Amino acid sequence: MTSKRISRRSFLKAGMGAAGTVALAASPVSATRKQHNEDLCTLIDIQKCVACEACVDACRDVNDVKFPEPEGPMPNMFPRKKVRVEDWSPEEKRDVTDRLTPYNWLFIQHAEGTYNGKSFELAIPRRCMHCLNPPCVNLCPFGAAHTLSNGIVRIHQDLCMGGAKCRAVCPWHIPQRQSGVGLHLDILPQYAGNGVMFKCDRCYDRVAEGELPACIEVCPEGVQEIGPRKEMVEKARRLATQINGFVYGADDNGGTNTIYVSPVPFGVLNEAIVIGPGNPHLKRTADSMADPNRMLAALAIAPVAGVIGALGRLRKLSRQGEGN
Ligand code: SF4
Ligand code: SF4
Ligand code: SF4
Repeated sequence: MTSKRISRRSFLKAGMGAAGTVALAASPVSATRKQHNEDLCTLIDIQKCVACEACVDACRDVNDVKFPEPEGPMPNMFPRKKVRVEDWSPEEKRDVTDRLTPYNWLFIQHAEGTYNGKSFELAIPRRCMHCLNPPCVNLCPFGAAHTLSNGIVRIHQDLCMGGAKCRAVCPWHIPQRQSGVGLHLDILPQYAGNGVMFKCDRCYDRVAEGELPACIEVCPEGVQEIGPRKEMVEKARRLATQINGFVYGADDNGGTNTIYVSPVPFGVLNEAIVIGPGNPHLKRTADSMADPNRMLAALAIAPVAGVIGALGRLRKLSRQGEGN
């Protein structure tokens, strides 16, 4: 099934481009990526969302194979007070769908209120924004987060040490940690990281095969479109003008590859939603990588990231060898 509003040709062109270059852009190269017009970008028209959660279910189904499976007791971390175990693997926690977790990369946020004397009730699909200049990529000390050549931002599970720096520096605190899995168990089980961070990877593997992300394909209301960024941003602005509405994501955090259009100002929506862990805000957001301290930090961590990257690749190879 394919949404009629998607520019299929453009989408396939971008998707197959990625398939040919599954190679990842090395951190902090993404900090200097200049051209984003052809990045894959989604437009989310929130007035169409009926909160059926078909997209949430589809995301969980297709990404089930990527979900963490902790095998043993969680190691006691040092220092215990600072490094908390975050275990979402028990069944009742895996089933949580009203926030972001390592097992739930997309959820529907609800907003009710009044604007211009009229009441509104809106549902907002929330997940990673896939930023153009993502602090999660530039500031990961282990180089585990990457921007693919089509703009998709991915956390590499074999390289992630679970230190949650990406969550701390992400303006929306999107990535979520599962303890008891990952590279840190092999090298510093008690002293480093504490698991692996998980978030929407825009179904990069489906996209590489020329397929749509599952949440877009399954939506009965055609809430999301995907296509080249320039086209999606222009379309979002036109739509906003038609409905006297508002755009979010075109410039927030320096620009993202997720553009929301709403009939209600995002400041009003932000007041109407529940905000907290796994429940991101909708505030206007300045470009977090424009801070000179962050730019310097991104440059300083690059060599360490390279070493950890090599360790992660060795670990993967040795596991593949064990499986032979
Ligand atoms: S929204 Fe957060 S996790 Fe997603 S790309 Fe941006 S900084 Fe990274
Ligand atoms: S793009 Fe894929 S991983 Fe991201 S929310 Fe949609 S279904 Fe989930
Ligand atoms: S499938 Fe579509 S209509 Fe249903 S909750 Fe998701 S975005 Fe909204």
